[in-house]
Amino acid sequence: MSRNPFGLTWKLTAATALVLVTAVAILSLLVLHGIRTDQTRQLEESLQHQSDTAALHVRQLYVTGTRLTPAAFMAQYGQELAVELGAAAGLPVVIYDTAGQEQGNSAPAGVRRIEEQALQHALAGQIAYVTDNDLVEYFSPVQGPNGLLGVIQLETSIKGQHDFYRYIQRLLLISGSSVTLLGLVLGYLFMTRQTAALRKLKEAAYSIRQNHFLSSPVLKRRDELGDLDGSIYEMSRTIESQIVSLEDEQSKLQLAVEKLQLLEQQQKQFIGNISHEFKTPVTSIRAYADLLQLYGDDVHLQQDAAKNITREAERLTDLIDRVIRLSQLESYDFENIPEEVDVKNALEEACSRLQGKLRQHQLQLHLNLESALICADRESLNHVFMNLLDNAIKYNEPGGLIRLNSFQANGYVQIMIQNTGSGIPLEYREKVFEPFFTVNPDRSRLSGGTGLGLPLVRQLVERQHGRIEVIDDPGGLTTFRISYPLWITDSGEKL
Ligand code: ADP
Repeated sequence: MSRNPFGLTWKLTAATALVLVTAVAILSLLVLHGIRTDQTRQLEESLQHQSDTAALHVRQLYVTGTRLTPAAFMAQYGQELAVELGAAAGLPVVIYDTAGQEQGNSAPAGVRRIEEQALQHALAGQIAYVTDNDLVEYFSPVQGPNGLLGVIQLETSIKGQHDFYRYIQRLLLISGSSVTLLGLVLGYLFMTRQTAALRKLKEAAYSIRQNHFLSSPVLKRRDELGDLDGSIYEMSRTIESQIVSLEDEQSKLQLAVEKLQLLEQQQKQFIGNISHEFKTPVTSIRAYADLLQLYGDDVHLQQDAAKNITREAERLTDLIDRVIRLSQLESYDFENIPEEVDVKNALEEACSRLQGKLRQHQLQLHLNLESALICADRESLNHVFMNLLDNAIKYNEPGGLIRLNSFQANGYVQIMIQNTGSGIPLEYREKVFEPFFTVNPDRSRLSGGTGLGLPLVRQLVERQHGRIEVIDDPGGLTTFRISYPLWITDSGEKL
């Protein structure tokens, strides 16, 4: 509960109290004023009525009796009339003559005071009355046929009215205080509830500031505070998702930095490998050049040198060619003209170009090709197939087998290039796609391999949105599987 004397609870409770006290006071004043006005009206009407009746009686007696002067009439009949009228009205009655002299009194011991000013008003022909504590003295002129006959004074008690007025006053005071008190208590409880909700919202905002986000709205209400709570909850979710995406971006950035560092490392390694690969044939050529300088006449050496220098030169050329192609791919300026190509035709063409080599190595070629259209650069596709078939020949065994399958499946064309031979151990199936990696360096060297063929092939395949991998084959054949998205899908739609 808030202890702050300047807190919202106390401020609003005080305001409620002020409003209630003001409202109760105004209401009480209006009610009391109404009662007082009504009592006065009733009293005036009642006394007027009684004085009219009394005056009528006096006038009748005057006009029906012997014609006396008003003073003589009052002197003669005043006391008798006062008693008679007092008995009829049930009130003390006093009768005055036109000179203001008392001529009759129904209760000589009872009506005592002459309210001189009020009497003078009545003698002047006007009704007048005076209130004194619980008594009202009412003076009414009695008109005869020739003018004023005298004045009748009625005395009545208004104690009952005063009692009623005080009773209502007390009632209003008690009910007003009770209502104010009850209003205060209820207002205080209500405000405590509101400020508790506000405090919860404040705590929610604080926990958001501490990066503890809300899992649900903190309040269960449908008013403005509920709306505010909903907005705070939404804000918390937005901030949370923004932070998550920021963290995501940060980790992506971190990954990119790591990848760049790895690339840098690979680049350094690549340059080291290149230098090494270039050095070997150059060293060999230099060695033969030195030998020829020393033993230039040796015919056998000349033949051997010519053969080896040619081989090493070819190797150097091939190496340079592949490095250039790889670097062109890395820098994205390798020419790429995508067009509609039938994989079956491309594979058959590659096979026919390698017929000589196949015969030379006494290899059998089994083809099982399905026509499939893809969108690819014809030149790079040719390069991929030639490279893979060349490897299948190079790393085969004499009298071995090459199997070439292609078929469509799930919007892709799958191409399998399989060959017998020493194979690729499981742990090297990914490594063979790294530059300069060779499973058996001696064999690669003998066959003029550089370890740059498959990295180039993978780059070319991926550029055409394809995928290449070495997979398991139950028959024990080395199996390269390539898949390219089809140009025309199974359902006949163009991509
Ligand atoms: P290389 O120029 O040495 O042939 P590649 O990148 O084409 O380089 O191949 C990398 C290595 O993968 C080769 O040295 C070889 O050991 C292995 N390899 C590639 N293709 C085959 C295959 N069809 N059968 C067996 N081993 C293969």
